[in-house]
Amino acid sequence: MGAGAGAMRITGYRSHGVAAAVALVNAVTSAGGDASQEALQRLLRENEFFWREFEARDAEEFRRWGATLRPFFEAASIEDAMRLLNELMLEVPMHPHLAVHEPHGLHMHYAPPSSRLPHRFRATTLMNLAELVVEHGLSRTGVCAADGCDRVYADTSRAGRRRFCSETCANRTNVAAFRARHRPEPEF
Ligand SMILES: [Zn+2]
Ligand SMILES: [Zn+2]
Repeated sequence: MGAGAGAMRITGYRSHGVAAAVALVNAVTSAGGDASQEALQRLLRENEFFWREFEARDAEEFRRWGATLRPFFEAASIEDAMRLLNELMLEVPMHPHLAVHEPHGLHMHYAPPSSRLPHRFRATTLMNLAELVVEHGLSRTGVCAADGCDRVYADTSRAGRRRFCSETCANRTNVAAFRARHRPEPEF
């Protein structure tokens, strides 16, 4: 084991549930979100969740879970976030075990082995968010700081200074702040 072995794998498998949770919450709860079954399947694939069959009722379960996770990103205090995650960890049946498959190699599964996709997704996103909180408190997650944007973000970069859901929102806000600073002084 190398020097950094105990550190969080910033962009590795452990954070894929975090990115997936963000994508789902934004698809389901944000103003411009697309919660269609096709969009949900696309975001699952992009975040490395795979399935044998996907039914209409699965899409409905994902929509419910996205709405359930939103308050985590809005939590004003670590106590609120802990309470929410702890309640959900009691509700979502867990059966942690080791698994080996592509593209993740050896890794943890949190749901019981025969679980369907929506349940696997709930268990993994929940545990990955809990791990993020253990490592970083609430400093890595939140609602976008840009005016008029209600999308959530999670920052799994090394620097961890992100406050926006996207480059677009960061740039828009920086330009507005620059203009405000350089506005000519009023004449009187
Ligand atoms: Zn797996
Ligand atoms: Zn934004």
